[in-house]
Amino acid sequence: MFDLIVIGGGPAGYVAAERAGHAGLKVLLFEKRSLGGVCLNEGCIPSKALLNSAKIYEKAIHGSDYGVEIEGARIDHAKVMKRKAKVVDMLVGGVGAKMKKHKVTVVKEVATIVERNADGFVVEAAGENYVAKQLLIATGSVPVVPGIPGLKESVEAGYTLTNREILDLMEVPDKLTVIGGGVIGLEMASYYVAAGSDVTVIEMLDHIAGQTDTEIGLILKKSLEKKGIKFMLESKVTAVNNGAVTYEKAGEVVTLEGDKVLLSIGRRAFTESLGLDKIGVETVRGTVPTDALGRTNISGVYAAGDVNGKSMLAHTAYREAEVCVNTILNKKDYMRYNAIPGVIYTYPEVASVGETEATATQKGFDIKTVQLPMIYSGRYVAETEKGEGIVKIVVDAKYDRIIGVHMIGSYVSEMIYGAGLMIETELRIDDIKELVFPHPTVSEVIREALFEL
Ligand SMILES: Cc1cc2nc3c(=O)[nH]c(=O)nc-3n(C[C@H](O)[C@H](O)[C@H](O)COP(=O)(O)OP(=O)(O)OC[C@H]3O[C@@H](n4cnc5c(N)ncnc54)[C@H](O)[C@@H]3O)c2cc1C
Repeated sequence: MFDLIVIGGGPAGYVAAERAGHAGLKVLLFEKRSLGGVCLNEGCIPSKALLNSAKIYEKAIHGSDYGVEIEGARIDHAKVMKRKAKVVDMLVGGVGAKMKKHKVTVVKEVATIVERNADGFVVEAAGENYVAKQLLIATGSVPVVPGIPGLKESVEAGYTLTNREILDLMEVPDKLTVIGGGVIGLEMASYYVAAGSDVTVIEMLDHIAGQTDTEIGLILKKSLEKKGIKFMLESKVTAVNNGAVTYEKAGEVVTLEGDKVLLSIGRRAFTESLGLDKIGVETVRGTVPTDALGRTNISGVYAAGDVNGKSMLAHTAYREAEVCVNTILNKKDYMRYNAIPGVIYTYPEVASVGETEATATQKGFDIKTVQLPMIYSGRYVAETEKGEGIVKIVVDAKYDRIIGVHMIGSYVSEMIYGAGLMIETELRIDDIKELVFPHPTVSEVIREALFEL
């Protein structure tokens, strides 16, 4: 008999197990594939390992701009993949060690919910039943595969890849077509163009990078185009035939021949065959709705991470997991979504938190915005030739506090948590002006921008 059964060993599941184990609960964690889930095995971490190599390559080929002459720089894809595997192994091993440290029982099997009886929730795996008083659903998400003619066959034949296969691809395709210009598509396009692929991104919308601030999205597009990525916007894919992708753009039908296709049009919550119906847990289009405390409609059943369909980011999953555990422990906590950072780890990086001008206006905020080029930062200028970075700040004019920060440039992924902190703690503009930022850093541009308001 366990206090808590966690189904799914990704960021939501392993963090919940770790925190609950640390608090003294008897915890059982089920994972059917590999601890660390999508994030560690086929998402955040392997993609960042690849992108780091692309960044080093970019710096090398532009070394001359900085007085460093490097000849013959090229990506050795096999080595990059080997290093990626080492990084993943190390981190997955680290999660296993944490489970041991916090006395979490790990069962590497598919878990299925059987029933709720007088003892608690019964979960079956590999023919054995396990019981716990509380249950946390952390089964994550899988790629969306739409019903485009030929797509399923192309996936089965190994021409169309999802994030899982592209992060394990041992050969660089000569021609790669990316369906979907969102975060995953842009990150993978960035690596493969650096590795030598001829990359085309097909996007249905008139812009890339989803909800990203419009201007920042345009700067990013321009900068990725300079690296050789081609974009087909307002283009709808209508058929896939092995590696060939047919799309319609302004009434014209075009077929793009290629070696591999990356499908990156989004992800959906994964709850199939889990048995949620056996205990009456409500699902909406496959997601498990939760309240701000991580509770589902059934008392004692919680859900965290991609499966609730709210944010689909690893750091959101961590925090939701903590909220669920605190709720179980009767500790006051709740989930807030207004200051969750989002990053695109391309080169240059994009980082955002809070409202964009568009969402703030939609929500009825009376806003002021300010924008500065990154060249206001001495460090940025010292380190960046031909940089087009900007910071844009959205301010709630009524209370004179920041409600959104959007950046493109260097180090922004590491700076954005500071902006999140300002939003979360509701600092007023005058409070932030009193803070001392280290000099010279790119972060100074945030503070500097506030004096332009
Ligand atoms: C290419 C890519 C790059 C990404 N990059 C980033 C990034 O840079 N930053 C970021 O924040 N997010 C990123 N994400 C998103 C991030 O990976 C997810 O938000 C995160 O993994 C969600 O965590 P989770 O625990 O909810 O689910 P998952 O990581 O999906 O884990 C769920 C786990 O549950 C297991 N499981 C499911 N059903 C069962 C069952 N019945 N029994 C046993 N086990 C089961 C699965 O095997 C899986 O391991 C990226 C995603 C992709 C695809």
